[in-house]
Parts: sequence; structure tokens; C-alpha cells
Amino acid sequence: MLDAQHLKQTLSNINSRGYKAYNQIKGNFGFPDFELFIDHVQGDPFAQPSKIRIRVSQSIAKIPNDLWPNAIRKIAVEDFIAREVRIAIKKTVTPKKGTGKSGLIYIDAGGQEVLERTAVVITKDWIESRIQVGLPANGRTILGFEAIEVLCNEIPIIVEQSLKWKNIDQIDFTHFVECVENQALIRRQLGEENLSAFVANGSILPRASGVSDKPLTGNNVVVFQSPKTFETSFELKNPISDGKTIIHGMGIPKGITLIVGGGYHGKSTLLKALEKCVYPHIPGDGREYVITNPDAVKIRAEDGRRIEKVNIDPFITNLPQSINTDSFCSEDASGSTSQAANIMEALEVGCNLLLLDEDTSATNFMVRDARMQKLVHKDQEPITPFVDRVQELYENQEVSTILVMGGSGDYFDVADTVIKMQEYLPHNVGDETRKIVKDHPTQRQVESPKPMEQILGRIPISSSFDSSRGRKQVKIDIQGQDKIIYGTEMIDLRFVDQLLETSQTRAIGHAIYFATQSIMSESESLEEILNCLDDYFNKNGLDSLDPFYQKEKHPGNFSRPRKYEIAAAINRMRSLKILKN
Ligand code: ADP
Ligand code: MG
Repeated sequence: MLDAQHLKQTLSNINSRGYKAYNQIKGNFGFPDFELFIDHVQGDPFAQPSKIRIRVSQSIAKIPNDLWPNAIRKIAVEDFIAREVRIAIKKTVTPKKGTGKSGLIYIDAGGQEVLERTAVVITKDWIESRIQVGLPANGRTILGFEAIEVLCNEIPIIVEQSLKWKNIDQIDFTHFVECVENQALIRRQLGEENLSAFVANGSILPRASGVSDKPLTGNNVVVFQSPKTFETSFELKNPISDGKTIIHGMGIPKGITLIVGGGYHGKSTLLKALEKCVYPHIPGDGREYVITNPDAVKIRAEDGRRIEKVNIDPFITNLPQSINTDSFCSEDASGSTSQAANIMEALEVGCNLLLLDEDTSATNFMVRDARMQKLVHKDQEPITPFVDRVQELYENQEVSTILVMGGSGDYFDVADTVIKMQEYLPHNVGDETRKIVKDHPTQRQVESPKPMEQILGRIPISSSFDSSRGRKQVKIDIQGQDKIIYGTEMIDLRFVDQLLETSQTRAIGHAIYFATQSIMSESESLEEILNCLDDYFNKNGLDSLDPFYQKEKHPGNFSRPRKYEIAAAINRMRSLKILKN
């Protein structure tokens, strides 16, 4: 292996030459404290920045092994270190001369959630940080001495500050890892405790703004407090701190839960917290002890989406012109058909908790009141509203629902739990609701013509996924968080509410490709394919998602998506074809 001195020499030799000469620095260089891998050199100063890896031996990094004895702690350790690297970059990197991305250093560290990601990898022998660097140039003329500043001076400072145990705030670090593990422990116990979700007392649910996921601050923030009648607690043991923590909060039981309350009293804020809390959160987020069943899926109306052979019969039958609803197709779904498909697709791949908000639901999908039932007879109305299926879903399929509904009392008859949000605080109004049901019986008729059938898994046809574009066999890009460009097809994920960040979107694009190459063979159902993918990621991590990984070893910036969001992307593809069953 060449050493740092050699890298410096090469950089000063290629100073003032054309940008292509940067290719000479590809390779590995030994620094006193770490190894630097320059895996990919960008084509020009405006292109995607160059990919480098920094590997520090554990004999130098000294991150204690007992900090990460299991998979969840490993994810937390890697996630925390990625954040440390990001902080060190911010502190260290000075503005450089040059064009485009000259001199910028970037790491794909996380936001408020803690995810498995490729930015940092820890092993017993070393810790590796994968980062990107804009190699400096003036136009296309290499600025070699600026490059020396970045690679030979700034990178070693970043390593010193963020990849050595002795320089990291060890109390913060340990607390972070414990906090993430505690969340996983509660999540694991939710089911046994017969709960769909848990919201700890003291949580802060509202966010700073519509565009910031940080907690709301200031005197007006109302801190979460469970009503006594819903209060439950979890006792957590920690091998590292060797202590016990008891966390109190509101348990939301399995079954059908209504969140009611006046407008602007915090209903949607509670539901949004539950949506995001299928993932662990960082300490200080305010939602770190809000824990939702990991198989919860947010369901909403999404008119305009494509639907490919989904059985929406339980909700919609007898459409005009005898349109087939047990294998429903649409290039431009309506509010109600899209919401029905979103439910059926989620159930198809294992969802057992539906999250709905009246704000984003199709009204006619949610309820048909007594007067409307009189005016438009059932035989003229294709829709069986959700209110008439929600109990059956729980009783026959153990699928729970948490539903924000401030506008219709017709759900009182079917609710097991009713939470009223008032001035941002929850109240148990179950007894009151039952009394209203008794004193003011509903005038509406139940409208489920026949029981739901078992959901048959659909089998995607692998040849319907074409990843090629122009001369390239595989071309998968993303445009922000909401769009995957798969070959020539644009997959629209704007209404997939639980998707978190661009790195997850990118991973979904490549996971689909991976599945077409290694899993699909015209006999696996979508659920089987997704479970296979999860097994593969559990065993091998996300590194191999990158098509250039074998050659370049820098896996790009991926974070782990859930199977529900991968399914959502596949289901929204305009080219998707399903095997006829
Ligand atoms: P609803 O769905 O009941 O109409 P929202 O959940 O949309 O109400 O909340 C309305 C506003 O109140 C939002 O701007 C939200 O940020 C704010 N808010 C929600 N919860 C709290 C809280 N606990 N403390 C302070 N403000 C809150
Ligand atoms: Mg609302």
C-alpha cells in the first residue's frame, strides 16, 4: 500500500492539470492512524462528488465491543458515529477555492430517526466511514494543493475527532445506544401487552414546522401526559448501565381506536407521531419513547395512482360497466378506490395496524350516513364504507386500526377505545361514547354484503421491471425523497407518508432491481419477495445494493427501508404486471 506522502506527491504533481488526472489518486493510502480508500473519482467538479472510505483499526479507534453485542445496538453505534463524523466535518472543513463542489465533504448521516445505513460500518477489527468529497478544481483545472488540504489535513482531523473512542463524548454515546435499544425492547413487548402503540409521558409530539422534523420548542408546547385509565409502564433493564428504568405512558390497546376532538386540538399530530414511531428516534427528539407496532401502515386516499390487479372487493363492488373489482386495475384511481387498494396492498404483505386520518381520507370511503343511505340505496352504491369493515378486520384477521375522526360519530358503534384530544392532551372518553351510543342509537344500516375473503398474494412478473435506459442496462436514480427513476419509469412516492429520507428511496430503487435479479422467478408472491429481501438485508446488510459495489466497494448512500415502503413503490409502478391467477 502507498502512504500519505505518496498521495501528497501525486496531488502536487497533478496540480494545474486537467481534471481526468485525478484518476491517478484512485487506490488505497496508508495514513498513520487510518487507511484511505479512494474508490471513485468524479468526472468533473460539478458531478456527483468522489467516493472515499476511511478505515480505522480498532487498535486505534477502540470502540468497545461490549457497546454493540446485538444487531440493534450495532445499528445505533453506526448511526451515532455517522452523526459524529457529520459534526466533525462541519467543524473542520473550511471553504475552498474552486468550482462546483470543490472541497466539500459529505456523509449520509441520519435525521430524527435511527436507521440501518451504509455510511458507517463497525466490525471487531475496524470502523469504516464512507464519505464523499468534491475534489477541488478551477473549472476543469486541478487545484492540487487544495486537494492536499482536504485529503491530507482535514480528513485526519475528522478521523481524530469522530472515529476515536477517547475523543467522543462517551456518556452521550452510551446513552444514545441504550435509548435506541430500549425503544426496540418496548417495541418487542407491545404485542404481548396487547398494545398497538405506546406514548410515554413527557413526550413532545408537535414538530417545529411543516418543513422541520425537529421538536417544537417554546412555552406553548404541551408535554404529553396519559390519562390515568390508559396508563401503563415498561420496565427496562440495561446490561451496560446495569440499572433499571421504568417508563410510564399511554398504552393504545389493539382493536379499534378512535382519536376524536375539536379541530386544532392535536389529533393529527398524535397520529403523525405514531406513523413515524415505527422507527426508533434519537434522544432529544421528543418521540423517543413513542413506540408503534412496526407493522403499522398509514393509509390514505391517493387519487391518480395506478392500481394493478388488486382485489378491492371488500370495499368496492358493482362498479358501473361491470368493471372487475376482485382484480381491479386503474391508471387513474379515484379517492375511494385508491384508499381501498392502499389497504388491501398493505394487508397483502403483512400489515396488522392501519393508521388513518380523516384529513387525508376519501369521505365516501370512510362513512355513509343514515340519510345518504335513504337517498342512495345500497344497490346503487359500490362502496362498502370502512366503518362497516373495521370490526371484521380486527375480529377475523387481527388487524387493528387507529383512526383520527373528528367529523363523524358513526364510528362510535365500532370503537373499542376512544381518545379525545383536548388542548393537546388525551382523555379517555370511552364510557361517554358508549352512553351516547345507547341514548342516541345510530340510524344507519350496516352495509357489508358478504364477509371478506382471504387475501391471495399477487405474483409480480419480473420482466415487467425494466431497469434499462439508453445504452445502460441498469439506470436507477432518485429525484429527492419522492421519486425513483427506474429505467425510464418515474415512480411517484409523494403519498407514501412513512417514507423518511432520500437514502431510503435510493435503497428502494436498488432493492427492486436486486429482487428482479435474485429473487423473482414468476412463482413468488410479493410478500415472499419482500420477506426474502428482509432476510437478505438481515444477513448481508445494504452494501451490495449498489451495482458497482464489487468494483468500487463504496456502497453509496443507503438507509434501510421497510418492506411496506418497498411494496408501495412496486405497487405504484406504471409498468408492473401481475401474473394472472
Ligand atoms: P387537529 O388534527 O386536531 O386539527 P393538529 O394535530 O393538526 O390538530 O394540530 C394543530 C396545531 O397544534 C399544529 O400546528 C400543531 O403543531 C400544534 N400542536 C399539536 N400538538 C401540540 C402540543 N402538544 N403542544 C403545542 N402545540 C401542538
Ligand atoms: Mg387533523
